[in-house]
Amino acid sequence: MPLLKIDDLHLSIEGNEILQGLSLEVPAGEVHAIMGPNGSGKSTLSYAVAGRPGYAPLSGEVTLNGESLLGLTPEERAAKGIFLSFQNPVAIPGVATMNFLRTALNAQRAARGEEEMSAAEFLKVFREKAALVGLSPDKLKRPFNDGFSGGEKKRMEMLQMALFAPRFAIMDETDSGLDIDALKMVGDVVNTLRGPDRGFLVITHYQRLLDHVKPDVIHVLSQGRIVKTGGPELAAQLEAEGYDQFTEAA
Ligand code: ADP
Ligand code: MG
Ligand code: MG
Repeated sequence: MPLLKIDDLHLSIEGNEILQGLSLEVPAGEVHAIMGPNGSGKSTLSYAVAGRPGYAPLSGEVTLNGESLLGLTPEERAAKGIFLSFQNPVAIPGVATMNFLRTALNAQRAARGEEEMSAAEFLKVFREKAALVGLSPDKLKRPFNDGFSGGEKKRMEMLQMALFAPRFAIMDETDSGLDIDALKMVGDVVNTLRGPDRGFLVITHYQRLLDHVKPDVIHVLSQGRIVKTGGPELAAQLEAEGYDQFTEAA
């Protein structure tokens, strides 16, 4: 049984069919990349899997370990192990990033019936992961994303992913706006988490992230469906030839 299975997903927004029968499977232990032109439905797919309000599919199925996710709230899906980093979370004035994340992590553990992580235990893990993503402790005393640069927000996303250690992580254009050092950091985080029980869907428009996060499989998404699936070599081909070939064929 694949860890994540998406079967014939159809999703419309304002009467436009954005996902048009999208199917894909990610077995446990694998990293799959989704590449595709702007507007092809990549973010819509990630929202549909994570359960963002307004992105409920018309038909089709999404399962994690054989269990349907559709109909669950975003929080319930997160508790089951789905991670989609929040792009613009509401910063809570006065609450330091570290405490914000500890509260979020413990809420998720409670939803799974797991014990809370103690302050001391959390601090240890937090320091280790903050170092991994290259965020200095003084930044993390500030409220969540308060005054963070674009690059620091991306590091923050990776800090969340490293801390939550999700069963299945979706990274939606985590690479946009990142310099080479930050791309390497993203690769380090994914490679640290990578393991037989986890899966990743790495959404990207460009090949360069895939030099650091080596995918097992690459899917091309065009006009709301997967139009090609191949090995890592597909990335270089897409970089050289572009997406037009798929747009025209679709
Ligand atoms: P990608 O991430 O591949 O660039 P998106 O999933 O963001 O593509 O968008 C796919 C299509 O769905 C686009 O045509 C976009 O305009 C449309 N779309 C996505 N979300 C909304 C929304 N909330 N309201 C209106 N149109 C939307
Ligand atoms: Mg169909
Ligand atoms: Mg997008």
